[in-house]
Amino acid sequence: MGLPKNNIKPPEQVTKSEFDEWNQITFKAFYKIWILVLAVELLLFVFYKPNSECGRIRYFWLFIVKPSGMQGIAMLIVIGLSKIKRKIYYKRTMFLSTIILISIFAASAIWIHTSVELMSMLLMLPLIITTLYKDKFLTWVQLLICVSVYALKELYFYPHTPYFPPLNNFINISIFCGSILVELFLIQHVQDYVKIMEKRADVDSMTGLYNHKMFYKQLYQEYMTYQKNGTPFSLIVIDIDHFKNINDTYGHAFGDEVICRIAKLIKSLTIPCHCSRYGGEEFSIIIPDTRLDSAVEIAEYIRTQFANESFDTNDGIKRFSISVGVSETNEDCNDSKDIFLKADEQLYKAKQNGRNKVCS
Ligand code: GH3
Ligand code: MG
Ligand code: MG
Repeated sequence: MGLPKNNIKPPEQVTKSEFDEWNQITFKAFYKIWILVLAVELLLFVFYKPNSECGRIRYFWLFIVKPSGMQGIAMLIVIGLSKIKRKIYYKRTMFLSTIILISIFAASAIWIHTSVELMSMLLMLPLIITTLYKDKFLTWVQLLICVSVYALKELYFYPHTPYFPPLNNFINISIFCGSILVELFLIQHVQDYVKIMEKRADVDSMTGLYNHKMFYKQLYQEYMTYQKNGTPFSLIVIDIDHFKNINDTYGHAFGDEVICRIAKLIKSLTIPCHCSRYGGEEFSIIIPDTRLDSAVEIAEYIRTQFANESFDTNDGIKRFSISVGVSETNEDCNDSKDIFLKADEQLYKAKQNGRNKVCS
């Protein structure tokens, strides 16, 4: 039997789902920015008064097709690259695609609007995202690219595409509002990522179930709902039988696999419930709006399913068991911990009565 699938990764690596999640929120932000920039450019185009130096077609090519095309192509390339299946997903690859994308977006804007004095300030925006890298090297890469973009603008682009439309208040205000919105989209990106990380901190990384902290939080919330509306709920607590023996006989990696298997079984429940791994080999299921008899049926189902699971070991196929305690809210419960204590007492009874049992 191999190591469990969710085994811990070295810090420089991420899982495919983390990689995908990052790309998803990044592309969402850039897609919005792309539309926004295009909308501002089109607005300016509508109000543009052609002159002998620059007619409407030349304007359209310079200020709409060129920047939006460059940004669109960059997005397509980076999205395409992100779809490539890899054996290992590196954190730096994940962030580098964002660095490249955001630099191309900023570059296309400042290289084209060379006569707008403060346009180069856009190069400060990518730095908002560097807080998420938590990687000094990447922050320096981002900074270096921004400086290079600015140097290229000064050395090469400046005389080539001067800003043709007269700089009146309307244009200045449009550009200012557009920049503010770009900033807001980037801040939203940062917030989306922080939300993902917070959610991850509530989940046990080995099993994907909620952790100890969330178990108590959800128990408290469910108890508060009970107090307010009188809607009863049930609690199931599960402990693997003779788990120390399993570890001692087949090793801890095998023990982890047993933990993951029971977690998978619990996650396969289709009823609305909060499932946690609140201890090493201890699990809980809070089932809202459910009476004791229904909860016992669910507990029996989990117990029998697990007892039938076969595990491939050096000594051949083995089966293991769990003991389960079930409780329900009633008048005796004075706080959320009471219902947990009651379920725990029942679990203790199941252990004393010979294990592989559900007590309620
Ligand atoms: P009982 O039937 O009475 O529950 O006996 P038991 O041996 O299962 O006793 P207990 O529930 O106290 O066992 C807890 C053991 O679980 C002790 C610890 O070494 C092991 N354990 C806790 N967390 C992990 C884990 O993440 N992985 C592995 N492999 N073992 C763990
Ligand atoms: Mg235990
Ligand atoms: Mg145990």
